[in-house]
Amino acid sequence: MRLLLVEDSPRLRDALQAALADAGFTVDAAADGETALAFLDAYDYPLLLLDLGLPRLDGMAVLAHLRGGHQPTRVLVLSARDQLADRIAALDAGADDYLVKPFALDELIARLRALARRYHGETTPHLAAGNLELDTVQRIARCAGRPLALSPREYALLEALLRGRGRVLPRAVLFEQVYGADARASDKVIEVLLSGLRGKLAAAGWDGRIENRRGFGYALA
Ligand code: CA
Repeated sequence: MRLLLVEDSPRLRDALQAALADAGFTVDAAADGETALAFLDAYDYPLLLLDLGLPRLDGMAVLAHLRGGHQPTRVLVLSARDQLADRIAALDAGADDYLVKPFALDELIARLRALARRYHGETTPHLAAGNLELDTVQRIARCAGRPLALSPREYALLEALLRGRGRVLPRAVLFEQVYGADARASDKVIEVLLSGLRGKLAAAGWDGRIENRRGFGYALA
């Protein structure tokens, strides 16, 4: 799940980036509002974790820009501004959730997962395709009831494919979802990752398949 983190405190930004990556998010980070806008214009993010007090462009201005472009990105504001009026102003400007600093990391992650489900129109944290099931909270894939031993990137790729069911997903889109914006690798690594994933799914007896649509991308069938 891709996420844009906008936070000007280097310490908090680094700590959040590491913690969110550990929790399975593919994180791009921006330290000011203008950089955040550049990221938002270049990529489609399901999730935005937004500080309000930011250099160059305030978080409320970032939010206004995002909503002015009608992007469906779910926004969680994470701010030291703890006044009721601040929370109301951010929610009325299009934020989906608001958490006041200091915060509990586990709660922040759970709220982000909830926003990710809403973004995808899911009502539960469980995804399924035939006899394959994903628990998106524990980040465990099971086939015919048995857990699969997947690497974090294989899991991220599988989750992206399940969430994109019914659509053809270009390799570049899958690459961004698994590796993020500053990855140096070529998007051809998706083929390698996919080949390993297919092998594990076949060995586990999965009754579905991942199709190659030459020149277009991949689709879960
Ligand atoms: Ca700040």
